[in-house]
Amino acid sequence: MRNPLPYNLHSHTSRCGHAVGEDVEYVQKAIQAGYEEMAFTDHVMLPGISQPGIRGEYSQAEEYFASVNDLRIRYQDQIKIHLGFEAEWYGDVFEGYYRKLLSRPDFDLFILGQHCYLEDGKLHWYASLPFEERLPRYQKDLLEAMASGIYTYVAHPDIYVKWHESWDEETRAVAEQIAMASNKYHMPLELNCVQIRSYPEAAKKPDTLNYPCPMFWDVVALYGCDVVIGVDAHRPEHYTDTDYDYIVAFAERHGLRLLKECPLKKK
Ligand SMILES: [Zn+2]
Ligand SMILES: [Zn+2]
Repeated sequence: MRNPLPYNLHSHTSRCGHAVGEDVEYVQKAIQAGYEEMAFTDHVMLPGISQPGIRGEYSQAEEYFASVNDLRIRYQDQIKIHLGFEAEWYGDVFEGYYRKLLSRPDFDLFILGQHCYLEDGKLHWYASLPFEERLPRYQKDLLEAMASGIYTYVAHPDIYVKWHESWDEETRAVAEQIAMASNKYHMPLELNCVQIRSYPEAAKKPDTLNYPCPMFWDVVALYGCDVVIGVDAHRPEHYTDTDYDYIVAFAERHGLRLLKECPLKKK
């Protein structure tokens, strides 16, 4: 089965150090999978920050932009290609950099993938915080990001359940805050395909504390938020090999509203 949505705005490239394949192969596989629109949103390359194996170096940014711009023209008759980054919100530290990128005519979008936070000039994982500080910190960072107006949508908003031990009042309260912010800022939430691809058995359990987390998406359904599907491709074949049947059935089972139209705002 194909993705019933004609777009995917979540694709990485080998520059991040944990994805493979040539940029052109991602485009070819996206076309083969029937997509009309795609975005390259590699892990954001940050001035002054080096995280080998997690994100590309800042010095690679212009070459990344040039490659996507070249593909955009070469394949313009077959697929619409957008240029962007998947980026964390680090308070106002990189806000100027992000806004400057958005002002470039060739740069289209940021998606919010809040994997880590910045403190004392270094990036840290939320799971490295004391247990009781993890969720409040994630919620604070995520809500600030959503209010910034920088991002097109929230990638794997339910990533935080991995840092908790059970689904409880606390995880539910975070889900409610995210759902309310999604509606307030008209920012869709992403059903992410990474875990069902990488760890299908664990990720498809009805009580999984992984994303997509069934209990999280029940809350989203109550609030009627807009939902998108993110392939989160880390190899070209992810476009064709992802279990779209599962993710679509998941959306239907939870009564989620899949956004048929690409949410990327025209510049
Ligand atoms: Zn990645
Ligand atoms: Zn991510």
